[in-house]
Amino acid sequence: MRPRRVLLSALLITVLTAGAGAQQAPARRGAASIAEPELKSWLTYLSSDELQGRATYTEGLGLAAGYIASHLQQWGVKPAGDNGTYLQTVRVLGIRANSKASITVDVNGQSRTFKDGEGVTFSKEMGGKQTIDGSEIAFVGYGLEVPAAELNDYEGLTATGKVIVYMGPQGPANLPQASGRLLSARTREAFGKGAAAVITPSVARGAGRGAAPVPASGATPAAGAPAAPAAPAAGRGFGPAPVDNGDFTTVKRYEDITPPQVTAQDEFFDFLFSGSEVKYAELKDKAAKREPLPRFPLKGVKMTINVDADYQVVRTRLTHNVVGIVEGSDPTLKDTYVAYGAHYDHNGFREGAKPGEDAIYNGADDDGSGSVAIMAIARAFATGPKPKRSLLFVWHAGEENGLLGSEYMADHPVTGDISKIVTQLNMDMVGRNQNDDVANANMVLVVGSDRISTELHNINEDANASLAKPLTLDYTMNDPADPQQIYTRSDHYSYAAKGVPIVFYFTGLHPDYHRPTDTVDKIIFDKVQRIAQLAYETGRRIANSDKAPVKDNLGPRAGKGHKGKLAGK
Ligand SMILES: [Zn+2]
Repeated sequence: MRPRRVLLSALLITVLTAGAGAQQAPARRGAASIAEPELKSWLTYLSSDELQGRATYTEGLGLAAGYIASHLQQWGVKPAGDNGTYLQTVRVLGIRANSKASITVDVNGQSRTFKDGEGVTFSKEMGGKQTIDGSEIAFVGYGLEVPAAELNDYEGLTATGKVIVYMGPQGPANLPQASGRLLSARTREAFGKGAAAVITPSVARGAGRGAAPVPASGATPAAGAPAAPAAPAAGRGFGPAPVDNGDFTTVKRYEDITPPQVTAQDEFFDFLFSGSEVKYAELKDKAAKREPLPRFPLKGVKMTINVDADYQVVRTRLTHNVVGIVEGSDPTLKDTYVAYGAHYDHNGFREGAKPGEDAIYNGADDDGSGSVAIMAIARAFATGPKPKRSLLFVWHAGEENGLLGSEYMADHPVTGDISKIVTQLNMDMVGRNQNDDVANANMVLVVGSDRISTELHNINEDANASLAKPLTLDYTMNDPADPQQIYTRSDHYSYAAKGVPIVFYFTGLHPDYHRPTDTVDKIIFDKVQRIAQLAYETGRRIANSDKAPVKDNLGPRAGKGHKGKLAGK
């Protein structure tokens, strides 16, 4: 009876497979398929000790990638990674830079050239070769814009195309406490305003928070010195040879042109301000005392900035983004994308922990919650109604190491051209109540929605209002002067920096943030479900619209206490 038995087995397998198939497609479709039980089951695995805290470059992260990819395959999400897989290789490069950069300053007809390492220090990551004609130089005092402290060093100034000079590592005395992130953000803010270059005084280590890091005296290689491969002698004794990380680590196209960031010594500034009414020594003295600083254009001064470095890759590490696509239904619009993002990496485990000590950073909220939220959204689109545009899903690696996966994707988009991504919706930590306060149970922080596209902000507001039980959308952390500077701290920022309109959903910080106690038992799955449904609905509306959200670039307007829609251009 063997053949018969075989036949029965085959039948049984067919039935079982069919049963599994029926389970793959959720009973409910679209947004209704985004439901607590699956979110909980997926996150229970992703945040388990088995995955060892999902640190980038570890087996734990690889297990997480495989788990997400196998679900995508089950749901019929199309692989969008390398060679028909769900994995996009992220190349993390250690780069040695051999700088030949310099700045020539002309003050009332007198000229001096400062080579990199001789009075001025260029950021090692200075981008491709270029010459900047710095005919307009603006001294902007402390370089701060903090309305709450009535500080606006850019008042009446257009920074576009100008060389911006600011100083004062600690800011003025009236700057609120805990403003370290605002001080660190000054150079980035100046570039955001279109500055051609930013020059600030070098600050000795430990002299102030937020200062640009400066090598200790003598550590800067003399100009003209060969690019010293600093790798120490290897091969003697046991253990791995020390690794040469180069001068900087990047996933970006490091030879693209970018505005330079320079720190300089007193002799440079003494000369730069030598024709000004207010001399550098006076400004330096005021800044040291944290007194108010004047702001003025430097008249009669010209500057030529020569950016010139050769780069050598000295280290390559590989990690992976998990990437899938659900194709849109419109033959033309399907070539454009609404992107969903989260990061599936976290902080790993403390290698020096004592036996029995909880040393695993499970990262259930950060960002297991966002990872399972976009899994549910991917399934909802893959098994439910298809909108006109395509949907791109990216589980980024290396977020905790500095937005590595998203910076790589933004520079090497799987869509071919980043402008095909009409919106990016990012979820990072969407499973808790801010500060563990139940008063925040219905609240989600919305960050960045208004900055590039007012229309996107309004679509998200409308989508929320259409839900059976709308969430309370809180814009407090969208304030550019917010001390947490959240807008730049997760993956959406890599897309926004390339001009893609974004929304960042975030339920706020809590006592378990970046601690081994960020565990699955503390996740509020009903809340993850509702935020995922909001993001689904916002994305669905954009994906079904014939017009991409208009980029009016009006910047942040919704802040603390803001409610509802905004007027665009
Ligand atoms: Zn984190």
